[in-house]
Amino acid sequence: MEKEKDYVKIWANCLDVIKDNVSSQSFKTWFEPIKPVKLSANVLTIQVPSQFFYEWIEEHYITLLKKTVRKELGTEGRLEYSIIMENTYNAKPYTVKIPTLNKKELKNPSVSMPIDTATGGIRNPFIIPGLKKVVVESQLNPNYSFENFIEGDCNRLARSAGFAVSQKPGGTAFNPLLIYGGVGLGKTHLAQSIGIEIKKNAPGKTVLYVTSEKFTVQFIDAIKNNNTNDFVHFYQMIDALIIDDVQYFAGKDKTQDVFFHIFNHLHQNGKQIVLTSDKPPVEMQGMEQRLLSRFKWGLSADLQVPGLETRIAILEKKMYADGVELPKEVLEYLAYSITTNIRELEGAYISLLAQSSMNKKAITLELAKQMIDKFVKNTAREVSIDYIQKVVCDYFDLPIELLKSKTRKREVVQARQIAMFFAKNMTKSSLATIGMHCGGKDHATVLHACRTVNNLMDTDKRFKNYISELEKKIALQ
Ligand code: ADP
Ligand code: MG
Repeated sequence: MEKEKDYVKIWANCLDVIKDNVSSQSFKTWFEPIKPVKLSANVLTIQVPSQFFYEWIEEHYITLLKKTVRKELGTEGRLEYSIIMENTYNAKPYTVKIPTLNKKELKNPSVSMPIDTATGGIRNPFIIPGLKKVVVESQLNPNYSFENFIEGDCNRLARSAGFAVSQKPGGTAFNPLLIYGGVGLGKTHLAQSIGIEIKKNAPGKTVLYVTSEKFTVQFIDAIKNNNTNDFVHFYQMIDALIIDDVQYFAGKDKTQDVFFHIFNHLHQNGKQIVLTSDKPPVEMQGMEQRLLSRFKWGLSADLQVPGLETRIAILEKKMYADGVELPKEVLEYLAYSITTNIRELEGAYISLLAQSSMNKKAITLELAKQMIDKFVKNTAREVSIDYIQKVVCDYFDLPIELLKSKTRKREVVQARQIAMFFAKNMTKSSLATIGMHCGGKDHATVLHACRTVNNLMDTDKRFKNYISELEKKIALQ
């Protein structure tokens, strides 16, 4: 709390000085939008709305800024920028931290400028002359390490290929490395392990983990904001790019296009690409041929359903990490009963712990059996937005394309709102994602749709009947 006040106060003091030194128009344009975000040691981090904004400030106001920051924080005082890369609802701002340099560093930039081969040698705008380095937050979850990844027959090839890649990113034949397999079998975990290991061996490398969904949302935002160039350049400077669930690119031609170019650039420059998907390239539909052929360039390795021993080992590892002890028979019972999906296995284990601590019951085989009975019944697979749309369209006898289009015909609007309502309530998708699937609407439209449906249910009996009938149909998948 104290700290928070500190940086806010310090930035306010800086602003006081700055205000006296620039025109009021400039102050309004360039300084008011800046938000202080943190202070650690003598580094003040400020958030700026865009790359362009950052460049402008560095170019025009750096002397003034440096003076004021040093006045507040002493001669060692430094400034870091955090640039907002995306602005979608419900997604954390995507930040790039760029340390401001002292004079010595300015004279000796220690990084060579990456050359953009696609555009014939234009500098990457993210690397500003005179800047030492650009730090990209890798978005990696430290729990998803190789140490925590249990090896078994089901994952041996994928794991060892992943490990090889992490020791020599871009320097093996496994580029791209495509990891594929069913839900909850460890694709995300393994892909992140590679990133974590690369960072561990070479902290200076720029690693980025991103879901294809987030990539798509960022790209759409970039189009809206007219900065697709920044978007592309940003991705082109990554040393190891991990894209999770690429099957989500299916049918998204523009996103595939832009990814194709980024892919080529990275590949040509010896950068590592790691992809995950729920199916092998040959079975991916809605994917451009040229992209598919590139997916096949490196190695496709699958993750299979783990055998009993591996499942037990995974649970044991988890218990050890949590400092929990379960009777051996309980552990074996869990591993024996839940066979197809590691996430579900973990889910059952967590519910069991929760059950026992809430009811203050010892974890016995009996309790495990009761719980698993319920658990296995209750884990009906999550429905997908596509499925919901299909049921809604069948019900109202509308072609699904209309629902996914932008049309404002009354009957389509209502069906679309109902689909959004169910997607919000029955899936874990974000509002932005739901909107994107339903005619490219934004999160506010989805919220509005949910409110409208709720209101109508309250006031219109017949409408309410539609909804409960639909609900049953969707749940019956
Ligand atoms: P996917 O991305 O394939 O749907 P995840 O990577 O999210 O699956 O894995 C689901 C859960 O199972 C995660 O909590 C992950 O840590 C765990 N898990 C998967 N494979 C392993 C493994 N081999 N060893 C340990 N934990 C694993
Ligand atoms: Mg995953």
